[in-house]
Amino acid sequence: MRSITIPSREIPVIGEYDVIVAGGGPGGIPAAVAAARAGAKTLLVERYGYLGGMATAGLIAVILGVRASGTSEPMIGGIAERLCRRMAELDGAPPYDEAIARGSVPFDPEAFKLAADEIVLDGGCDLRLHSWVAEAPVEDGRISALILESKSGREAVTGRVFIDATGDADVVARSGARFTFGRSADGAVQSMGSMFRIAGVHDDELPTGESREAFMQRATEAVNSGDITAYNPSWGGVVGGRRSGEHMPNATRFAGDPTNVEDLTRGEVQIRRDTWQLVRWWRENVPGMEDVYLVQTPPHIGLRESRQMVGLEIVTGDDVVDARRRDEAVARCPYWIDIHCPLGRTKNSTHLCYTGCPNDPPCPMYEEHYDELPGDGSDDRAALHPRDGLWFDIPWGSLVSADVPNLLSAGRCISADHQAMSALRVMGTCMAIGEAAGEGAAMAADGETDPAAIDVGALQERLRANGAAV
Ligand SMILES: Cc1cc2nc3c(=O)[nH]c(=O)nc-3n(C[C@H](O)[C@H](O)[C@H](O)COP(=O)(O)OP(=O)(O)OC[C@H]3O[C@@H](n4cnc5c(N)ncnc54)[C@H](O)[C@@H]3O)c2cc1C
Repeated sequence: MRSITIPSREIPVIGEYDVIVAGGGPGGIPAAVAAARAGAKTLLVERYGYLGGMATAGLIAVILGVRASGTSEPMIGGIAERLCRRMAELDGAPPYDEAIARGSVPFDPEAFKLAADEIVLDGGCDLRLHSWVAEAPVEDGRISALILESKSGREAVTGRVFIDATGDADVVARSGARFTFGRSADGAVQSMGSMFRIAGVHDDELPTGESREAFMQRATEAVNSGDITAYNPSWGGVVGGRRSGEHMPNATRFAGDPTNVEDLTRGEVQIRRDTWQLVRWWRENVPGMEDVYLVQTPPHIGLRESRQMVGLEIVTGDDVVDARRRDEAVARCPYWIDIHCPLGRTKNSTHLCYTGCPNDPPCPMYEEHYDELPGDGSDDRAALHPRDGLWFDIPWGSLVSADVPNLLSAGRCISADHQAMSALRVMGTCMAIGEAAGEGAAMAADGETDPAAIDVGALQERLRANGAAV
């Protein structure tokens, strides 16, 4: 490929910090708040004009992974709990205890934005929005600064410990630290997909019972014939809006590489088209949806999986189904192996990638890599879950880069294989991981040591003292 060389130039250093968190999503927000709470001078950098990551930019409006299935034992606490309680005060989420008992926290993304601003700024963090982390220069094997690109131009911030909470492990990649990408068979990652907001639904006129099943059958036939190119034509979707008649379906799908801008471009265009098509189909076919209209598609295509940092430890799919407990646990995840088809298939109910997938037409994973698929060879999805009442632990070492000693990750891009990341990517777990990353980063900065050398027992005690579920 042709290239050009640009002249080197001096970049102003606009701040010096103990801890810098890149990315203000469910992983990054608690990381920054926890680091500042522990006394570290902390900066949170986010490329958009608001916080929340997929929770707001992706309209992913329900927090999962909040309690172990079959019990009421919470899997989150601390900063995640504060954020959820604040959203409830803003009438943007149900009362916290009620939501935990039901096993999920549905919320209004606008309430998430405001609550996140408040807990970050009240927590004493410096916040820089509209700032893209462009580079992570390394000196003597350690990251020395992050280079930010914004309307103000190129600027640098220096720090002692860096937390990559970009979801895509951008800081890991820019620093030259190792990362993995996708499943081992072919490097494919879970399909992208966007949630969207609809309104004008007459909820009390929607088909129910057998009538609903008959309409769902028609919708499924429309998917299989290609009339609908979404993967999930179920109206209403998984998230009820806070106002009646408003819903946030999770319906669309696109296979591609979230770190490739051409794939991102194609995905945005396809998903917008599929969304309009699906809303039109509902309007024309489903009683109670005659007046449905599209309120909003998300500012950013939904991203499930991209790079995973290579850490001192790796979380695996076996950890999930074995509900593995670890001595150096810093967060818990009760969620299951939930891999959205990396080939982006939508027809024949091909929702998930596991041994029980209908696999029609034949899939290369079935033909050549069957033993790499999760599941027990049957269509029993229970084989993908930690057993009732159980969870798997996230160990501290999976947050610590194996290559760059002052680099941590938080959220969905920690050190995990394709199967394990499909479970721990839920926002409840990402927030719990974030809080641990921030607290541990502050301990390292304060003790003038590296994250790998901190006392993990002391970290666990500090997390528990602040209400985290560890
Ligand atoms: C379609 C779909 C449905 C889902 N459903 C659910 C669900 O029902 N419940 C659930 O709990 N989870 C769900 N998830 C998963 C969940 O939303 C994500 O895994 C979670 O948001 C990950 O949090 P994160 O902070 O690690 O990453 P992200 O949410 O991706 O946040 C990363 C942040 O970093 C910022 N950033 C990225 N790169 C840079 C850069 N270079 N410089 C500066 N900032 C940067 C981004 O703007 C963003 O704010 C779903 C995901 C998708 C796509």
